[in-house]
Amino acid sequence: MGATLGNSGSPRWYDCDLQRFEEYLELLSDCGASGAEIVLHDGDADEFTSRVHVVREDWEPVIRRYRERDLSVSVHGPLTPEFSPQRWREEPDRTLKRYRPVLDQVRELSREQGPTNLVLHAITDRSRTPGDNERQTARFLQAILNELERTSSDVTVNVELRAYRPDRASAAATTRASALRIVEQTESNLIGICWDLAHDLESRIVLGNEWVEPDEQFLNRVRHVHLHDLGPEDEPHYPPLTGRVPLESALNRLDAVPAIMEVRWRMAERVGEPWDVLRRSYRAVQDRRRS
Ligand SMILES: [Zn+2]
Repeated sequence: MGATLGNSGSPRWYDCDLQRFEEYLELLSDCGASGAEIVLHDGDADEFTSRVHVVREDWEPVIRRYRERDLSVSVHGPLTPEFSPQRWREEPDRTLKRYRPVLDQVRELSREQGPTNLVLHAITDRSRTPGDNERQTARFLQAILNELERTSSDVTVNVELRAYRPDRASAAATTRASALRIVEQTESNLIGICWDLAHDLESRIVLGNEWVEPDEQFLNRVRHVHLHDLGPEDEPHYPPLTGRVPLESALNRLDAVPAIMEVRWRMAERVGEPWDVLRRSYRAVQDRRRS
């Protein structure tokens, strides 16, 4: 099995406890994980933020221990408002400055492990048109890439396909077509798409569009994949155990692209014992990759 498979969600999976992190890493080894995704944060972090993000003081020990286990680490950009692309549009210089330590860390990671994926969200500005949000998102991704390339790097910057929601109808990158328009408006092949298959399906359900297999043009720009599923009542971030999202096409046609399960601890807890749910999720994805 060549392609990278991992999951996101630390530090929640080990309850923010670096002692328990060792045990969690054992679990990942047993599951055959070869990657991981972490959400980096820099700055003051409240309780919620520090459960979702790896906070600054933990960057070094967490990344080192993943790397000691030979897991290749992908990074998701911070989710707090001061790092949002909307904020970048209002205050580009200040926002890029806030990003700098995060980008330095991503670059250092790429020097150590080789090609590294960074995942960022697109602009959600309800007062603007979808086209405007797409254009500004393209500029944001380009600005981040330029910042990374000030010194050499081996980092691909990816915009995540997120779920379409009627209350944020003009948000960018909520369909494949929108994500593709964004990356095609940039000048670099190092800007790609994080294809979140479950969000793709969620958007389709809300917009009344059937699932279709992706075309080559889209697949050519996919550099990162997020895997999860929908629950029986369309609950998002369900473990990949329900078979609703057609994972096979992504797993078989994107063999060289890292696949990261976005199985949320909170949802896993509703399904069963979380670590056991994670173990079953790895098995389910590995079985479907072989089939
Ligand atoms: Zn995301």
